[in-house]
Amino acid sequence: MRCDTLWTDARLATLTGDGLGVVERGCVAATDGAIVYAGPVADAPAFDAADTVQCDGRWITPGLIDCHTHLIHGGDRAHEFELRLAGASYEEIARAGGGIVSTMKATREADEAGLVASALPRLDVLIAEGGTTIEVKSGYGLALDHEAKMLRAGRALGQERAVRVATTFLGAHALPPEYADNADGYIDLVCDTMLPAIAAEGLADAVDAFCEGIGFTPEQTERVFQAAVKHGLPVKLHAEQLSNQHGSALAARYGALSADHLEYLDDEGIAAMAATGTVATLLPGAYYFVRETKLPPVDALRASGVPIALATDCNPGTSPLTSLLLVMNMGATLFRLTVDECIAGVTCEAARALGMQDRIGTLEAGKACDLAIWDIERPAELVYRMGFNPLHQRIFGGQTA
Ligand SMILES: [Zn+2]
Repeated sequence: MRCDTLWTDARLATLTGDGLGVVERGCVAATDGAIVYAGPVADAPAFDAADTVQCDGRWITPGLIDCHTHLIHGGDRAHEFELRLAGASYEEIARAGGGIVSTMKATREADEAGLVASALPRLDVLIAEGGTTIEVKSGYGLALDHEAKMLRAGRALGQERAVRVATTFLGAHALPPEYADNADGYIDLVCDTMLPAIAAEGLADAVDAFCEGIGFTPEQTERVFQAAVKHGLPVKLHAEQLSNQHGSALAARYGALSADHLEYLDDEGIAAMAATGTVATLLPGAYYFVRETKLPPVDALRASGVPIALATDCNPGTSPLTSLLLVMNMGATLFRLTVDECIAGVTCEAARALGMQDRIGTLEAGKACDLAIWDIERPAELVYRMGFNPLHQRIFGGQTA
């Protein structure tokens, strides 16, 4: 059987079935960018490969997937971080021009090329750790032109680098100053003007919102979901991060791909998510950075069979993090996830959180040939180390990249 490339003499974590789907003496064959075989060498067809790669016993996992990022943004919030460490209060920082409004201003001031240029170093760090698919949200423009600009910049990242980008429209992220005291008016703008224009231009693969006491109410969130459904876009939600607004149950009612954060999620929300297969995307970087102490209900999610994904939540204010390897370590140490859950959280479950589980996230025939090849002796090393990158090679769409 002919194929373009055969990676052989490898150990595989296929992420198919239960657990990691380990194959001790495995190979992966690809043609035209897609996997045509992944499994034991002993069961493989006799391949006539144009290129054969001896992996010398290295481990191959699916390419890593970051399913929740705010990678595109203007500026940073390092000075605000410094002020906070020096004891400044939230109000003092806001008065000094800090907070999300400062990121909004810097994002509005940047043009598309500037946003792409500033995001590329962050993207390159994710890629250097085996990242092959990255979700990127809007949400710092908070006006149609600037939200569209952010999404175009997100799409452009996928042209600049050998990486798959999924874009998410997060117009309902925060209230822009021009709508202060008129949140319903801003939601009108999001639903009636921004979302239709963004959908018409094909700029977004999903729609997200921030349902929270300091964000938008469940009623406002539901209006955004209704508009998304009307335009044929799946939904996701920032939910239960700082309080229980029952946003996850609302998201599940709209068949959400994922509900994200979830520190304050209750049993009712878990049951709703379990019933619809909505993924719980946990964001340990934000939990760590804001020194949250309330843990997401991992045991109850596990017991209910809710799929658990992990992501960086890369953003300038609460999670300036660009390492999925560190996210896995934090998922284990802070949230007590197992090694298998951590690795599944940045591969097959992250794919599910993007609605891309038919295309990426496991090593099996028919999926895109996105691979991470690691210099490790056992998969636990990916979760165990901190600040160490054992990536040997990254394959995107069957090509070394
Ligand atoms: Zn976020």
